[in-house]
Amino acid sequence: MAERPIVVYGDPVLREVSTPVNPTDPETVDLVSDLIDTMRKAKGLGLAAVQIGITKRVFVVDLSALDASQSPTAFINPEIVDVDGQIEIEEGCLSFPGIYQKIVRPAKVIMRAYNLRGEEFEVEATGMLARALLHEFDHLEGKLFVDRMSPLTRTMLRGKLKKLSMAS
Ligand code: ZN
Repeated sequence: MAERPIVVYGDPVLREVSTPVNPTDPETVDLVSDLIDTMRKAKGLGLAAVQIGITKRVFVVDLSALDASQSPTAFINPEIVDVDGQIEIEEGCLSFPGIYQKIVRPAKVIMRAYNLRGEEFEVEATGMLARALLHEFDHLEGKLFVDRMSPLTRTMLRGKLKKLSMAS
């Protein structure tokens, strides 16, 4: 449908907890379409609705840059069923342009969500897909990857973060 502006760190909407949606509602279909367009234009691996200012429990992930067989997938009203292990991977976030940091998260996740047909599906993921799912899920809870950095890392990034939050 349309590309939308991405909300940057400092905007209080990123701290809001998103609310469930009706997966088959035409508004949800439009939202997913906008999210995919915006994510592709920004060359991101994932984008949550709150990052375009809509506090609904919807996100998209696109791992086609890493694996051509993958296509963008919408996760509607997702739930974490289980997590396992622990791994440190470098992450970025479209709401934190220019900031990349190693973050520790579970190595594996089982996530359940709805698609646009209102059908429930379950994904078991490791590697970058697990990382993208866990990162985007955090957005629905108003959590940001800076919250998962060590106090030392946050202190080192203080200048960059301040610049971002003042620009938004
Ligand atoms: Zn993010």
